[in-house]
Amino acid sequence: MRRAITSVLALFGFLLFVSPALANEGTVAFVGATIIDGTDAAPLEDGVLVVTDGWIRAVGPRSEVTLPSGAQVVDVSGKYIMPGLINAHGHVGATVGLNGNGGYDRGNLLRQLSLYARYGVTTVNSLGGDQEAGFVLRNEQFSKDLDRARIYVAGSVVVGDSEQAIRDEVNRNADMGADFIKVRIDDNLGATQKMSRPFFEALVDQAHIRRLPVAVHLYYLDDAKFMLDANADIIAHSIRDLPVDRELISKVAESDTCYIPTLTREVSTFVYESVPDFFEDPYFLKEVEPAIIEELSTPERMSRIAGSRSAQTYKAQLPTAMDNVGTLYNEGVRVAMGTDTGPPARFQGYFEHMEMHMMVNSGMTPLDAIRASTGIAADCIGMGDIGTLEPGKWGDFSVLADNPAEDIRNSHSIESVYVAGNLVPAE
Ligand SMILES: [Zn+2]
Repeated sequence: MRRAITSVLALFGFLLFVSPALANEGTVAFVGATIIDGTDAAPLEDGVLVVTDGWIRAVGPRSEVTLPSGAQVVDVSGKYIMPGLINAHGHVGATVGLNGNGGYDRGNLLRQLSLYARYGVTTVNSLGGDQEAGFVLRNEQFSKDLDRARIYVAGSVVVGDSEQAIRDEVNRNADMGADFIKVRIDDNLGATQKMSRPFFEALVDQAHIRRLPVAVHLYYLDDAKFMLDANADIIAHSIRDLPVDRELISKVAESDTCYIPTLTREVSTFVYESVPDFFEDPYFLKEVEPAIIEELSTPERMSRIAGSRSAQTYKAQLPTAMDNVGTLYNEGVRVAMGTDTGPPARFQGYFEHMEMHMMVNSGMTPLDAIRASTGIAADCIGMGDIGTLEPGKWGDFSVLADNPAEDIRNSHSIESVYVAGNLVPAE
């Protein structure tokens, strides 16, 4: 026993002795960039960002930040740094190519999380369809060695044929460790039946008993008002049938509810009726297999979409969705970037950049679109350790050649992405 204590003391002494030398190991200082930190602050010119063991240790002007001795210095003068993008509504699931059921397994999920990360999307809130392997990856990500996107999970999209069945399903997801409860209140343009309102209320009640926020898929203005009255927490799609009105705006403002537009989800429903412009964008092409583009460009497929009533309805309602984003943004509502990427032809990584561009086209400033995709998105999904570049947060960020706050299309100029301070590897 005494020997054991002596060994422990010896080890402790050893650690004390070497700790000054170890303190700066794993410290990297990025020096000279303009830093967009994801908060309300203006971009900081000639800034320094110091990351130690995955965590941000200091951020500030070069004149005010002392570089820890022994820190590895990365010269990023003339470049731009912004926080890793957070997709507040995505899906990391079974998609392979254009097959929505290609396989839900660890390998496929990791492939998607790496793809997101290469595009600078360092966190994905997977809102439904999540199984065991997704929960395991969520649990593993609190590590300084992480170099792929973080994932948060909702479990199944809750359905049930009785209030009890719905409460049971909420409990199953909660028991697995879900971060959110996801529910749909939609009739898919009249094709299906909506969840009944008492069932929905039971779901919110049970989710809140389990202390989980409820993210709601919806389409109609009326359902948005109802879900707010029922105390559901996150509006996970745009209101698309009608312009938002005073009643809705005051309900959203009173409850401080976040609004996730998923505008590119709408685009994905109709855009393949012809060959989209982005099929020629190198930033898209670098990650997409030619066979997928070929398949989406076949005349039969394009004419099927051109003739689809639902696709054409979503297309016709997109301007309403965009106007609503602009209105709510101008009213001070918290808008969080989300895309609903993951299902076939909703391209993970690329669509998040398109979403920010569409948010700007809806009336947001580029800097506010970036905030909506970083600090505000983190806030909306309740994750306090990501989203902004401040001491104590994970070192998740991108280095860009051109200023995205000046022109949101410059988000395509990402040169390198870091997660927990680790460079995300090229494929
Ligand atoms: Zn979704």
